[in-house]
Amino acid sequence: MRLILLGPPGAGKGTQAQRLVEKYGIPQLSTGDMLRAAVAAQTAVGVKAKAVMDAGELVSDAIVNAIVAERIDQPDCANGFILDGYPRTLAQADAVEAMLAERGEKLDAVVELVVDDKVLVGRIVNRAEQAKAAGQPVRKDDNPEVFEERLREYYKKTAPLIGYYYAHRALKSIDGMADMDTVTAEIEKILAAV
Ligand code: ADP
Repeated sequence: MRLILLGPPGAGKGTQAQRLVEKYGIPQLSTGDMLRAAVAAQTAVGVKAKAVMDAGELVSDAIVNAIVAERIDQPDCANGFILDGYPRTLAQADAVEAMLAERGEKLDAVVELVVDDKVLVGRIVNRAEQAKAAGQPVRKDDNPEVFEERLREYYKKTAPLIGYYYAHRALKSIDGMADMDTVTAEIEKILAAV
């Protein structure tokens, strides 16, 4: 199963991906998590990416494409993976298609989680408050000001992928404002049909 989860920041891609990991036994490939790990480890990529991420902008296609290409060659990806937060630009969508073709693999589904902007901002503010209350570090980009930039980047660069995958007949859109279990059930229904 090779799946892309598409949707704006805060749509619930990460939460749903984690649930699918358990059910299907395939890994979640979150470019956001991978980049945050690189920042924490102060690798060359991390040092380059940090300021861009803190500002809510997108890291360069070259960097994320290279990270993903390397990751999908790991043995745990042999039976598939869930791409969470990647691709995020048309160039990344082309790159993933080329990567899969090179490996004789193909995408099984692209699932879009649809959520209103106002709901998204509320979720991000909540996520920051919960992290703080739990004594966990709060993501630097989880505040309303940076979030606005993340959303702008989403509409400018990522939302065109909805049309791209629609044209490839791979897109399935579901209501990301339903409760979490309903969203999971909807995704599972889509995956059962592929
Ligand atoms: P979100 O909750 O906004 O979906 P992520 O954890 O997926 O957050 O990503 C956090 C940040 O990491 C993004 O704002 C961006 O700077 C960077 N990033 C993650 N994935 C990509 C990608 N595929 N292309 C470019 N930048 C990315």
